[in-house]
Amino acid sequence: MKRRQLLTHAGLLGLSATLSSFDLKFPVLGLDPEKKRHGGQITLKLGKLELLVITDGHLYINPPQPIFAPGIAHERVKAAMSDNFIKDDGIDAAINILVIRKEDRIIIIDTGSGSLLGDQAGKFLKNLNHAGIQADEVTDVLITHLHGDHIGGLLDTKGSLNFKNARYYLSKPEHNFWMSKTPDFSKSKHDGSNADSIALARNIVSTIKNKLTLYDFGDILFDCIKTELAEGHTPGHPSLTIFSDDQSMRHIVDSVHSTLLIAHPEWGTQWDVNFQKGVSTRERILEEQATSKGLTMSCHLPWPGLGYITRNDEGYNWVPMPISTPDL
Ligand SMILES: [Zn+2]
Repeated sequence: MKRRQLLTHAGLLGLSATLSSFDLKFPVLGLDPEKKRHGGQITLKLGKLELLVITDGHLYINPPQPIFAPGIAHERVKAAMSDNFIKDDGIDAAINILVIRKEDRIIIIDTGSGSLLGDQAGKFLKNLNHAGIQADEVTDVLITHLHGDHIGGLLDTKGSLNFKNARYYLSKPEHNFWMSKTPDFSKSKHDGSNADSIALARNIVSTIKNKLTLYDFGDILFDCIKTELAEGHTPGHPSLTIFSDDQSMRHIVDSVHSTLLIAHPEWGTQWDVNFQKGVSTRERILEEQATSKGLTMSCHLPWPGLGYITRNDEGYNWVPMPISTPDL
């Protein structure tokens, strides 16, 4: 950019009086140029809690069908994707991980995908370090459900725990489903083998079993997370309401993976262990969030997965939380 153009741009921002040279580092926003900055994280306050959302990367699904909207006419899906400003060649699912600082605790909700998804993901640990948190400082790991993109980051490449000093938490129904003799996938629309997923889930559970607490739905964890059953995606899949003082945020985890399924919750996904329950839970949660107008977080909606649900004539809309700077 030439100096004249720079000045023009700066003038538009009302800053021309401050410009005397090309030394234009961070001229507008008042950011400290000495502070080393990294992407991949965002922080906000919720009552007395500090929340961080940290990215693990993303998961690109191309073509979107049949994983999303199996059995729905392609032209309808394409039109709905266009209406929702999704590029029509694929669905790009974020992997957003919530970290909660509460007094001397550091609670992480899931661990990302580790090495399971290749280069596009597996960045949680690195980005956690960038946020000033070392893996050994994590006190609690709340596992929402036993899918690879949530538990793959629990182990390093040698199979050892990344979070050595943490206790682990998992719902009883989730544990019992994967550890049962023959987990029932008969109500899923996924047509491939589930053997790898089952093996991974069992390996993780056996690795953490001496540090594992199984919770019941309705339990309140760490005095700041209310747990509720939101089954369908998996049999023990939760919704988590994070609260402090008079503030709260509902983490809907994997009840919705894309804004396409907010517009059309009934179209569903092959990723749900029980397709119909996935649809009914999704519809219930979207209705509840549209009614409450409460802040919503999702693991896979576009980064950082924070926003609100509103109703329209046919379904719902996703309204991203207005974020002006990563340092909220
Ligand atoms: Zn997921």
